Amino acid sequence: MVTRRATIAGLGALATQLVLPSAEAAQAPPYQLGEWTGDGFAPMHAIRDGLWRAPLSAPERRVDVVVIGGGLAGLAVAALLRDRDVLVLEREADPGGVAKSGRWRNVDYALGSAYIVDLSDPFRAFYETLGLAPRPVSEPVDRALSGAAGAGDPREGEWRGAYERLKALLRRLGESLDFPKIPIAKASAPALALDQLSLHEFLRREHIDAELFGLLDAYCLSALGAPAAEISAYAGVNFLSEINAPIYAFPGGNGAIARAMAARLSRAGEGRIVTGAAVYAIEPAVNGYARVGWFDARHPEEPRCLEARWAVVAAPYFFAGRILRGVDPAATAQMTRLRQGSYLVANCCFEGTPADLPYDSWALGAQSFSDAISATAVLPAAERPKDHSVLTVYAPFPDPGAGRARLLAGDRAGFAAPIVEELRRFMPEAFGGARLAEVRLTRWGHHHLIAAPGIVATMRALPKRFGNVLLAHSDGQGMPAVESAIVEALSAVETIKRG
Ligand SMILES: Cc1cc2nc3c(=O)[nH]c(=O)nc-3n(C[C@H](O)[C@H](O)[C@H](O)COP(=O)(O)OP(=O)(O)OC[C@H]3O[C@@H](n4cnc5c(N)ncnc54)[C@H](O)[C@@H]3O)c2cc1C
Repeated sequence: MVTRRATIAGLGALATQLVLPSAEAAQAPPYQLGEWTGDGFAPMHAIRDGLWRAPLSAPERRVDVVVIGGGLAGLAVAALLRDRDVLVLEREADPGGVAKSGRWRNVDYALGSAYIVDLSDPFRAFYETLGLAPRPVSEPVDRALSGAAGAGDPREGEWRGAYERLKALLRRLGESLDFPKIPIAKASAPALALDQLSLHEFLRREHIDAELFGLLDAYCLSALGAPAAEISAYAGVNFLSEINAPIYAFPGGNGAIARAMAARLSRAGEGRIVTGAAVYAIEPAVNGYARVGWFDARHPEEPRCLEARWAVVAAPYFFAGRILRGVDPAATAQMTRLRQGSYLVANCCFEGTPADLPYDSWALGAQSFSDAISATAVLPAAERPKDHSVLTVYAPFPDPGAGRARLLAGDRAGFAAPIVEELRRFMPEAFGGARLAEVRLTRWGHHHLIAAPGIVATMRALPKRFGNVLLAHSDGQGMPAVESAIVEALSAVETIKRG
C-alpha cells in the first residue's frame, strides 16, 4: 500500500536524487537526447546582471498598445485588441509561454501546459471566439500507480471510501456560492477564509483520510508548485474540483490555444509579434506614453526603446517587479518576493506498438517525476498512430531553487536517466511493444507560481495598474492555470477599452 509517509519521503528524495547524476548518465544513453526547449535563461540573466539599470534610449517607434510577454495572457490581450495598433514583445523564439507544443513524427505533444477544466463563461465564449472546440478527454482520465507489479489503482481498492468522501466534499463545495473561484475578485468571504488555511489543514478538518494525502501532494506539487501542506486551500479546492468533472485537451496541449491566438493576430496584420525581444525596463506615464526598453536577445548590448499609449505587462510578476520603473517600490518588492516553482518536462518518444494508456498516470512515490500524460490519448482511437507514441512526463522540483540551479547547469543525460529508469518501473507496459527512441527535455525556471496560503489575499491587494501600465499575467489570480491567464487578459482589455 502506498502511504502518505512513503510518498512524502519520495518527494523529499526527488530533490536529493536530482542533484546526483545517475551512473547511467556517464555512458551514452540508449536513446537520443533532444536539445533543450523552454526557458532560454540568457536574456533574463543579462537583465539581472546589469541591464535593468541601463538608461532608456530615445524611442524609435510609437504604438497604441505594447504587450510585454507572449504567453497565453499576453496573446489573449493582443488577439482581443487586434483591431488596434498592438505589438507583442516576446523574449523567447516562439510565443506561447508555458503553453507550447512540440511534434515528433506526426504526434503533437505539450512542452508544458496540457489541459483545461472550465468551460463555463467567459472561458467558453473565449474559446469560441478563437474557433476552438475543446474535446473532453475520454475515460479513463487518470490512474494512480504504486510502482508495485500488478498493483491496482488504490482509489479503487483500499482508498475507495476516502476518495469517495473527498469527491462528495468537492461536489458540495462546487455547488455552493462559496466555491473558491477564478476570478478571485468575485470570491465570497467564506471562500477567502479558505485562503488562510493550507489545503492539508482544511481537508483534515473535513475528516479526509490521511492515506489520500500522498496522491494529493503529488497533484498539488504538479499543478500548484508545492505539497498540500504548503498550498492555499482556496487554490487547492479550486484545482481539485476537476476530479468531479470532465477535463478537455487539444492535441499538443494548450499550445493549441496559443497558436489560435497568434493566428488570429497575424490575420489582422503581419509583424504583431516580435520574438527574441526581451524587455528590461517599463516606465509608466500618467498622461502620455509609457516607455519600454527592450533588446534583441542576440544583441543585449544594443538597447532599444518604444513608446505606447498602453503597456500591458504579461510576464510573470517575479520579472515584472524587476523591470517596472518609478512605481510604488512596496508593490514591486512584493511582486519579486512571490515564490516560483521550477519544472522539468520530458517528452519520451516511443517507436513500436503503443500501449493503451489512460490520459494521465500518477506515479505515487516516484522520485524523479510526478505524472505522465499520453499525448495520443486525446485523439479518437481510430486516429492514434499504430507504431509510435509520446509520453509527456512532468517533473516539478520540490526545491525550486535547487531545481533552477540544475536546469541552468543543463545536464540532459543526468535528468533523463532517472526518469527513464522510473518510467520502466511504474509504466512497464509503455516499453512492452515499443522502444524508447528519444527523450526531449523542456525546462521552466520561473514560470510556475507557488499558490501558498494567503496567495489570493496577496494578489487581490496588489495594484494591477500603474498609470498607463497594466499587469495581465496568470500570477494575478494566484493560481497557475489557463483560466487565470484568460481572466487577467479580459480584465486588462476591458480597462483599455474603457480608456
Ligand atoms: C509545466 C507546466 C504545466 C502546466 N499545465 C497546465 C495545465 O495542464 N492546465 C492549466 O490550466 N494550467 C497549466 N499550467 C499553468 C498555465 O499553463 C499557466 O499559468 C499559463 O499558461 C500562463 O500563461 P501566462 O501568459 O500568464 O504566462 P507565461 O506562460 O509565463 O507567459 C509569459 C511570457 O512572458 C515572456 N516574458 C517574460 N519576461 C519577459 C521579458 N522581460 N520580455 C519579454 N517577454 C518576457 C515569457 O517568455 C513568456 O512567453 C502549467 C504550467 C506549467 C509550468
